[in-house]
Amino acid sequence: MLKLKEIIGKKTELLCKGVNLDDRFIETYRSEGIPFEEGRKGGAGPLGGQYFEFDDNKTIVNVPLWHNSKETNFVLKNEKDGYFEIFDKSKNSIFANLKLVPYPNYYNRSTTDGILMKKIALVHGIECLATTIYQRCCYWENGSKCQFCGIELSLARGDTIEEKTSKQLIEVINAAKSERKFKHLLLTTGTTSSIDKGALKYTDMVKEIKKEFPDIPIHIQIEAVENLKYIDMLKEAGTDTIGIHIEILDDSIRKVICPGKSRTSYEVYEKNWIHALEIFGKNQVDSFILTGFGESTEEFSNKLEKIVKLGVIPFITPVRPIPQSKFKVPICNPLMLLTIFEHTVKLMKKFNVNPLKNKAGCVRCGACSAITEAYRLISGN
Ligand code: SF4
Repeated sequence: MLKLKEIIGKKTELLCKGVNLDDRFIETYRSEGIPFEEGRKGGAGPLGGQYFEFDDNKTIVNVPLWHNSKETNFVLKNEKDGYFEIFDKSKNSIFANLKLVPYPNYYNRSTTDGILMKKIALVHGIECLATTIYQRCCYWENGSKCQFCGIELSLARGDTIEEKTSKQLIEVINAAKSERKFKHLLLTTGTTSSIDKGALKYTDMVKEIKKEFPDIPIHIQIEAVENLKYIDMLKEAGTDTIGIHIEILDDSIRKVICPGKSRTSYEVYEKNWIHALEIFGKNQVDSFILTGFGESTEEFSNKLEKIVKLGVIPFITPVRPIPQSKFKVPICNPLMLLTIFEHTVKLMKKFNVNPLKNKAGCVRCGACSAITEAYRLISGN
């Protein structure tokens, strides 16, 4: 079994580089009932990935899958005893053995109003049920969308529906609960042009879900709001954890990559985080932070320290290109990302921020970042 330190290094490399899927293998796997595809091609969260588990039976990684051998030196090879060999072409050796997290059976079932359940909510990692409750975003409408975002692509492809109802979601939760170790729920949304920026879309839904499943922790994700009362309303509805996602720490890059969302200043984010920490409590507030844009190390480190000092968990992930999109980014350097993870967990230790105590959502799932494993290593957990 790999040691945690090795797992962190390998997970970081896989997050950055992904693996190549040879067409030959896809066909073979499909004939064996293993449904490989290029991961999700739209939606919220890092795209184009499939979930695998390391041999510690604990660490999950959301691996980008490519159909182009030029993208990466890793190739998905033979399956043996439930583990796939990831072959490193540059070293002519096996890089890792990973277990594929199987799709749940409910993906083929339909809700009572006739919608395929996989269009309502998907399992992320192994125990996080995740859905985009509203699949549109005002920045797509006015031509100022974040360049890394695929929220409306999955809608255009017919992989999902525009807006989910509480009833549909409750049916899918029941289906997921009946067959898997589903433990927490993640709700996300596109930003709306209303003053609440979409926060109010969650409140009734969270209340209804909590009424049915009081023990399931719920995570929601929002853009920072001008009026902090919306954060209070989300907590009052029953939300357990919140992600207020600034996405990029370097302001000059944020303006280019997120032309619409960056109109909300860093200072507004800071106010939101401080308020959310007061009402959601310690370790229950996070922010997605993408790296790999060639950002200034100094600005990145300074801002990172500022937000960790506030008590926010930075959920750091490498930026990932969207399949079939014009948005191209160089592959995030795994060694640089590893250094960032190490630096971040030292800051978390220093300021007493513990991602292992987070109750729901991306921080608890952890498939898209190695931040929790790096924290486990430094804490001896
Ligand atoms: S960390 Fe988990 S829940 Fe969050 S986007 Fe990645 S896979 Fe989904």
